[in-house]
Amino acid sequence: MIIPKARKLTDAQLEEVRKIAGDFSCEIGIIVGAHRNIYAILGEERRELLINRLSGLEYVARVEGVDAPFKLMDRRSALSGNEIRIGGVCVGRELLVIAGQCTIDPRNPGHFLETAAAVKEAGTHVLRGGVWKPRTMPYSYQGEDRALEIILEARNQTGLPINIEVMDSHQLDLAIEARADMIQIGTRNALNYSLLKEIGKRTAENGTCILLKRGRHMSSVNEFLASAEYLAANGNPNILLCPRGTLPTLDGYRSHPDESITPLLIEKTWAPVVVDPSHSVGRASYVPTCALAAIAYGADGLCIECHVNPRKGIGDDPKQAIKPDVLRSLIQEAEQIREMRNRFRR
Ligand code: PEP
Ligand code: MN
Repeated sequence: MIIPKARKLTDAQLEEVRKIAGDFSCEIGIIVGAHRNIYAILGEERRELLINRLSGLEYVARVEGVDAPFKLMDRRSALSGNEIRIGGVCVGRELLVIAGQCTIDPRNPGHFLETAAAVKEAGTHVLRGGVWKPRTMPYSYQGEDRALEIILEARNQTGLPINIEVMDSHQLDLAIEARADMIQIGTRNALNYSLLKEIGKRTAENGTCILLKRGRHMSSVNEFLASAEYLAANGNPNILLCPRGTLPTLDGYRSHPDESITPLLIEKTWAPVVVDPSHSVGRASYVPTCALAAIAYGADGLCIECHVNPRKGIGDDPKQAIKPDVLRSLIQEAEQIREMRNRFRR
């Protein structure tokens, strides 16, 4: 849709617009409004160059797309029947819970093994554990390759599939070699297009599940979906979209809680939504309500930081990890809310 600055385009302007549209095999339809004319682009109007050329005309106020710019992530795309199964869960049909420590402490492997057993007991389907950590300060603990051994041991002991965040090619090599069941792309790399392309390509063959967090720099819903499109376009559509809070922070919370974008995502895409309340609100005491709100909003799953003894944890665990007994009640309550929500939808 072309919205002119003036009430309508002059004949010369309309001719120019028609000429540009013609270069892209599109036509222009005129919608005569009471106050202003609007010009519909008939044909493939999603082409970026076409939109940019039209937007650049000095007499055009803006150009709005009607069709989504996403070929693969769009709810109406051929991928819309894509089923993602992990940890015995068919995501979307059943609640998916990913839980575990923010960070694996290689000096205390026993903590992680205990946490792994406890989250399984509480009803978790996928075990998370930070091997390499994206830290704001270079002096903070950055993770270590040897933490990978610990999460692999936890997978052996519990039988749970594992989620690992990777930030570069070296880490991706190791995660692929370890047959990580789920690869996390964190908020800081959500807009790292080279990494998204590489992960999409290198996980295409196995169809490894990807947990894609939302960029925290207030990335728009479309920008979030565009990142997912990078993964799908490079061969791997097994993507879980993970809102995890954005900037600017909301006084008292770590981030600006964004579970409320879930209905917007559901409307635009077929990809399941798995909300991370831990990084969103950033304090253990606020996590349960944020998690339940996410389910009420329509989320298909949750990704939660949990530790057997948060005080002894490292990384985010001391402030935002919940204990396994809290996780267990939370999962039960989430199931109840999900049930209510689905009844309401029917
Ligand atoms: C994490 O999951 O521990 C993490 C660092 O996540 P985010 O990228 O959302 O900050
Ligand atoms: Mn964390």
